[in-house]
Amino acid sequence: MRYQPPVFRPPSEADSYILQITYGCSHNRCTFCAMYRTKTFRARPFSEIKEDILEAARVDSQIRRVFLADGDAMVLSTPKLLEILKLLNENFKSLERVAIYADAHGILRKTAEELAALREHKLSIVYLGLESGSDKVLSAINKGITATEMCDAITKARSAQIQTSVIALLGIGGVSDSAEHARETARVVSQMSPDYFSALTLTLVEGTELFDSERNGTFQALSPEASLQELGEMLAQIQPTTPIIFRTNHASNYVTLRGTLPQDREAMLSKIHLALKNKALKPEWMRGL
Ligand code: SF4
Repeated sequence: MRYQPPVFRPPSEADSYILQITYGCSHNRCTFCAMYRTKTFRARPFSEIKEDILEAARVDSQIRRVFLADGDAMVLSTPKLLEILKLLNENFKSLERVAIYADAHGILRKTAEELAALREHKLSIVYLGLESGSDKVLSAINKGITATEMCDAITKARSAQIQTSVIALLGIGGVSDSAEHARETARVVSQMSPDYFSALTLTLVEGTELFDSERNGTFQALSPEASLQELGEMLAQIQPTTPIIFRTNHASNYVTLRGTLPQDREAMLSKIHLALKNKALKPEWMRGL
């Protein structure tokens, strides 16, 4: 099993076998993101992927969960993805689910039949970085996609019985667009009603455009308290059509929340309120990317 670092995975994939099937991110231009700046996007040769799967099966043939990396591995064509999924199913007899990072274009380019075929081969969950439901914010951060397109992608994946996990980024609108970011993200998440919704908190990373914008004063970052207040505003406005499991279990967050929307909304809002009142936010040194 070989990896081209850095390798990222969602917190909930901590126990999964991570398999790189692409390197980097095909977009790689979001102003806040340094995750894959050191990599040029490319699909990994199938021969290498096969060697790694066979090696992993020799080490542990009981693997139940696999996470396909890097940034938007769903961008691969359906035949390529099916080839990999078939190999995983053949070699891991206990395989329960395969997860993948996806951008909305990668989902939207696939037909309903293609998504159904991927689901049949145990592609069970897609993780999509929404960042914000505001097109103004999405445009400012150069996300390269609209909120409507991301909404359509999530709806399409859900129609194929693929679970969806959507991630927003607290603080990405800065001080000036915090209210819009909270309101529009709540609106879009309500419309998507994904199976899972989580929030990360913006960390400015040296070498990114947003870091420079903060330094030259064109972007004003939220304080930790303001980012928690933003989260509260977001949660208060989400009106899902089906229950959403919500969590802030990422290392970047100041407070860890876990609950189902809408039923646990008040409990989670109380926890935010208490954390602000008692100044019980995670210290900066404990935060991670
Ligand atoms: S945020 Fe996602 S889409 Fe944007 S550059 Fe980073 S990995 Fe790529």
